[in-house]
Amino acid sequence: MFLKRLKLFFTAVTVLGTIFLIYSIYNTHKFKTSDLDEKTKNRINQKTIYLQSLAYRKFAVKRKIPIKISNKLPSNLFGAATFSQTGEIVIYLNKKRFKESVDYMIEDVLPHEYAHALMFVFGDVSKENGGHSKKWQNICKALEGKRCNRFVNHNDVIFDKTNLF
Ligand SMILES: [Zn+2]
Repeated sequence: MFLKRLKLFFTAVTVLGTIFLIYSIYNTHKFKTSDLDEKTKNRINQKTIYLQSLAYRKFAVKRKIPIKISNKLPSNLFGAATFSQTGEIVIYLNKKRFKESVDYMIEDVLPHEYAHALMFVFGDVSKENGGHSKKWQNICKALEGKRCNRFVNHNDVIFDKTNLF
């Protein structure tokens, strides 16, 4: 009787484990092949509108910076701000990184990149500390960025390239 129950128990564990595994694979696959979910897209839009309003109120910048979600960015980059030779400014957010933390991408990375974009709007293309100058930091803080750390170890400011990602 006991052995029978034990067998039943292990069978149940195996079945549940298999279901869970299939479900995980399905989710990973779904994330790779489909767009970001509607809720995340809405949050990005809301945050972008808010950043635009802050840029206008605090710096009188009316220009709207396009935000593009891309899965072609290198994995080590959360986002990037690009400034082309023709003066086009685009912020890219790494789609792959949304999987780990939507909050981090929207509350940290987006204001961080938006501050780089405003530097371009002001014509400041300083490469000091990879674009993370004191001026950049002040803009980042004005945009209510969560962590406007100057000593970041990434190259997320990209000049003179078009349609990179
Ligand atoms: Zn940066």
